[in-house]
Amino acid sequence: MSEATVLNPVLAGLYIDGTWRGGNEPLTVINPSNEERLAIVSGGDAEAVNEAVHAAQAAFEAWSKTTGAARAMILRQIASGVAAQRERLMHLQSSNNGKPGFEAAIDVDDVIATFNYYADLAEASDGQQNRVIELPSEDFTARLRREACGVVALIVPWNFPMVTTAWKLAPALAAGCCVVLKPSEVTPLAELELAQIIAASGVPTGVFNVVCGTGLAVGAPLSAHPGIAKVSFTGSNAAGVQVMQRAAETVKGVSLELGGKSSLLVMADADLDLAVELASGGSYFNAGQMCSATSRVLVAQELLAPFLERIVAKARSIKVGGPLEEGVEMGPLVNQAQYQRVTHHIEAGKACGARLLCGGQRPTGRARGYFLEPAVFADVPLDSALWREEIFGPVLCVRGFSSEAEAVALANDSQFGLVASVVSGNGETADRVANALHAGMVWINAPQVIFPQTSWGGYKQSSLGRELGPWGMQAFQEIKHVVRAV
Ligand code: NAD
Repeated sequence: MSEATVLNPVLAGLYIDGTWRGGNEPLTVINPSNEERLAIVSGGDAEAVNEAVHAAQAAFEAWSKTTGAARAMILRQIASGVAAQRERLMHLQSSNNGKPGFEAAIDVDDVIATFNYYADLAEASDGQQNRVIELPSEDFTARLRREACGVVALIVPWNFPMVTTAWKLAPALAAGCCVVLKPSEVTPLAELELAQIIAASGVPTGVFNVVCGTGLAVGAPLSAHPGIAKVSFTGSNAAGVQVMQRAAETVKGVSLELGGKSSLLVMADADLDLAVELASGGSYFNAGQMCSATSRVLVAQELLAPFLERIVAKARSIKVGGPLEEGVEMGPLVNQAQYQRVTHHIEAGKACGARLLCGGQRPTGRARGYFLEPAVFADVPLDSALWREEIFGPVLCVRGFSSEAEAVALANDSQFGLVASVVSGNGETADRVANALHAGMVWINAPQVIFPQTSWGGYKQSSLGRELGPWGMQAFQEIKHVVRAV
């Protein structure tokens, strides 16, 4: 039986005020492994956005007054609901996103960990309200409150749909905000399943709303709506700028998680096998569709030749295929537009003089599906789009360096500053380089592990604000001081 017959072909894309229904804008959802239609999601428009915001506003007063412990109970309920549907959610991630099973599992487990983490923070917040602030005067007292900022819009992309949703939704609910979530129109299937779990978690009517739809039909009116106190957006820089512009009209809070062009630095004393493993994971995980891709690999000159030899062998060994096929390590790109964008960058890279050492083409025998062999480029000009722009595909660029200072300068020479990785056999060298890099997260000799306890976000044009950790929850709170005359 094909996927199309397994799934209901027309899915309600609106969850507003506790009711599922369809909208006016049909969205076709495809399987990137075979280009077949998986479902049609009946999405919404500005009118649906308006209804969802009003439902959330009506629920806000009561929800924002609940105790952290009450909100924690619901967040834990969501986490256990997700755990109970782990296999189903993994399957939807694989069919709609093309993620192999091990990648889909990481996503689902991250969602569970995030909801549990913010349940703990919500519970702890009860004891922290009304903290007394020391003043340099005996005539006054002051206390600090952190209060939910209002109704918030959460707009998420397609590359890690459930994870980016959880990183916003869990802290927003923990803080006491009511929510309108807009999933990506490309990958709404696991999101809708997650929404069903949330709807069944005991969250009061109107607190959590979903409006599926395109950026223009739903994202734009959501960013401009006067009833929204804050927009938390993850996606491309172009759309992020538009969100910020629309939000400016009513002076909303805005959090942005945008693009990256990050580096992995292989220092002269690095373990070469480890460096190759980390470079491969940093560029080819999720078929390279990662904001945190370390697609610029900077290698100490003395290791450059053996590194190139091993990374090419590694890239050639990666099994590309459908996520449900045995032993597959890398799935397809998410859709045709993404495939065209990445292959265009590869062709432009070749035309500008960069040397393609392997990959960058459709694997033989794969006429259908958006499959691409992992690519390795060398001799990439520093002013080329291949070196400077986010490719968002399995394309890795290698360059040698002759000093630590040159490596750091090359890594920092970017409009972005999301993450970086350092591979070094010397702890002091690794720490010195990590401290010098302009990035919100630096991994040393480690894969791209992310814990809910550590922050997520970057420098420069990669981000505005930070997600995860206590900072992720504070992003949905206002600060109030109450000062009283004694
Ligand atoms: P995108 O910007 O096309 O879409 C992201 C979301 O915004 C979608 O829901 C889309 O419908 C909506 N949208 C599009 N235009 C809009 C507009 N004008 N107003 C309001 N909403 C709009 O991005 P994408 O292609 O889905 O995702 C890929 C991008 O996301 C990459 O640039 C990647 O780096 C970035 N990303 C960043 C992070 C991070 O944490 N920094 C994480 C994941 C993805």
